[in-house]
Amino acid sequence: MSKYISESLRNQIAVSDKGRCCYCLTTEANSGIPMSHDHIQPRSKGGETTFENICLACRSCNEFKADSIEVIDPLTGEIAPLFNPRTQRWSEHFTWSSDATKVEGLTTIGRATIVCLRMNNPVIVVARRRWTIIGWHPPDD
Ligand SMILES: [Zn+2]
Repeated sequence: MSKYISESLRNQIAVSDKGRCCYCLTTEANSGIPMSHDHIQPRSKGGETTFENICLACRSCNEFKADSIEVIDPLTGEIAPLFNPRTQRWSEHFTWSSDATKVEGLTTIGRATIVCLRMNNPVIVVARRRWTIIGWHPPDD
């Protein structure tokens, strides 16, 4: 199993994900920080280096996700799998708070993913507040 991501696969991911973190929707353009490539199913758990298993993720989501594949939903106490950006729709699992500074979970998968990836950490919440003021946030979809 290779860690190497070919140029053609990188291009395919870049076109599909449009420079945006597939989890918290932070953009490279807003943050000024290049996105990293996340193995949705971690390589340590057999995840392959294919388009179906790799998506763009911001450094924060990628690092907090690490090797996790499931976490406890804080609302129900159920164990839930993490959101899969390739097979699931963001808007079915997440929404924005009324001031757009926080991601809110609509499902066990959404809530568990927010906790695991710390998608509302203080740094990103402050950044989203600034981006909202200047009209860069929230994204359209
Ligand atoms: Zn992110």
